[in-house]
Amino acid sequence: MTLSIDTSRITVDPLPVDLGFGYPSAILRLDKIDPKISGNKFFKLRYYLEEAVTRRKSGLLTFGGAWSNHLVATAAACRQINLACVGVVRGENTGNLSPALADCVRLGMKLEFVSRTQYKNTEELARWAALYYPNMLVVPEGGRGMPGRRGAGEIASVIPGFADYTHLLCAVGTGTMLAGLAEQLQPHQHIIGISSLKGEDSILPEILRETTVTPAQIALYNQFHFGGYARYTKELLDFMNRLYNASGVPTDIVYTGKLCFGWSSLCEQQIFPKNANLLLIHSGGLQGNRSLSADKLAFKTL
Ligand SMILES: *Cc1c(COP(=O)(O)O)cnc(C)c1O
Repeated sequence: MTLSIDTSRITVDPLPVDLGFGYPSAILRLDKIDPKISGNKFFKLRYYLEEAVTRRKSGLLTFGGAWSNHLVATAAACRQINLACVGVVRGENTGNLSPALADCVRLGMKLEFVSRTQYKNTEELARWAALYYPNMLVVPEGGRGMPGRRGAGEIASVIPGFADYTHLLCAVGTGTMLAGLAEQLQPHQHIIGISSLKGEDSILPEILRETTVTPAQIALYNQFHFGGYARYTKELLDFMNRLYNASGVPTDIVYTGKLCFGWSSLCEQQIFPKNANLLLIHSGGLQGNRSLSADKLAFKTL
């Protein structure tokens, strides 16, 4: 059984000329694929799911925080193809589930809460998982790893007129999507990652070591994290609202809002050549906005 997802819903929408400071720019709307198996998560999970089925595993076991898009997507994907799933959640159970974790439970995921200290000790966690869940395929946090990268690379195949774009821009968490897309570039193309995390210095060297992309084709920007992972400021929310009002494109506070802000700022700095043709990847994640109070955004995301 394979995951079926309607990729015909994906569109490429133009971005406002003023926010792109004249550079032709568009955005690939992977957020339209499915509200739960959103954006890049479908691509990153597909080969893990396939592996679980061929190895006759009973399901997937994976990791994430209380607002994790990855956990929600895993739960939804496993439900669709009748696999069991376990989500190992960072932080103690306060008895009050976040909307994301409540979704996971509704979708049939079993949650295991571990302390932040335990969560950091990945080797110990892997031993624990192998002991208590021997029939589960363990998927690293965020779907990182070869199967995740291979699946993420297939995003390139749903981009109409892929070769016409000179620069792709995407959000970066674990860097799996960035690495997967980097592998698909043609020699005249470039990829730019906008990091949602503060100080992830190992991502770029790792991609250069493990893929065929050349240093001239890839860049990772670290100055658009707005205080760090899942942090945001009024400036970011104002930008997200401005973008939505001008284009109808909704973004999230964790990844795609920062991606779009970074895009606009890099365009303003004119870092691109004159003939550049930019494509941003909207990687989904709109459910993450549920951590905001309702009055903060000009749009409803779910
Ligand atoms: C998970 C996620 C990312 C991060 O992808 P990585 O492959 O971990 O870098 C980016 N955008 C959205 C919306 C996500 O949910």
